[in-house]
Amino acid sequence: MRILIVEDDPNLNRQLHEALIGAGYVVDRAFDGDEGHFLGDTEPYDAIVLDVGLPKLDGISVLERWRRDGRLMPVLILTARDRWSDKVAGIDAGADDYVTKPFHIEEVLARVRALIRRAAGHASSDINCGPLRLDTKASKATVNGTALKLTSHEYRLLAYLMHHKDEIVSRTELIEHLYDQDFDRDSNTIEVFVGRLRRKIGVDLIETVRGLGYRMRDETAGT
Ligand code: CA
Repeated sequence: MRILIVEDDPNLNRQLHEALIGAGYVVDRAFDGDEGHFLGDTEPYDAIVLDVGLPKLDGISVLERWRRDGRLMPVLILTARDRWSDKVAGIDAGADDYVTKPFHIEEVLARVRALIRRAAGHASSDINCGPLRLDTKASKATVNGTALKLTSHEYRLLAYLMHHKDEIVSRTELIEHLYDQDFDRDSNTIEVFVGRLRRKIGVDLIETVRGLGYRMRDETAGT
């Protein structure tokens, strides 16, 4: 899952960056409204954390432009405590949720998790697929109750496939959602990682759809 942070306060930006990386996301960062708008307009994010008070272009205007141009990614806005009108303006502009500053970083993480989950159509923080269970709160996965030892990259790959289970996910889509903007994108690496992940899971749940990509099959559903 790939997240964009748009926050001009360097300390807050860094704290959010560290926390989101620690939670297993790939994270891009912007420090003003122009840069943030550009990234959100051109890169496919699974969620965006957007400060309202930003230099160059304010957060509400950034959000209005994205929505006007049909960008539907979940957006969490950060508002100042005494600015209730920012919350109203933000929600009217198309924000999915808000957090008031100062906040506990755990609250931001929980809200981001919930936004990503809901955008993928999952109501609870655990996502199941056959014997596989993804605990999005703890960033852990188990097979038949046994914990999988995954690298952060493998976890991201598994989490993306599980959030989109029963859908065909292309290699390009995986590259776009698993790596930040600075990564040298090579689609062969995806195959290598899928191979490793398959071996670690041990059960055959990741199907290769020839010419199209991969699909995590939930055999317990829809039969
Ligand atoms: Ca600010």
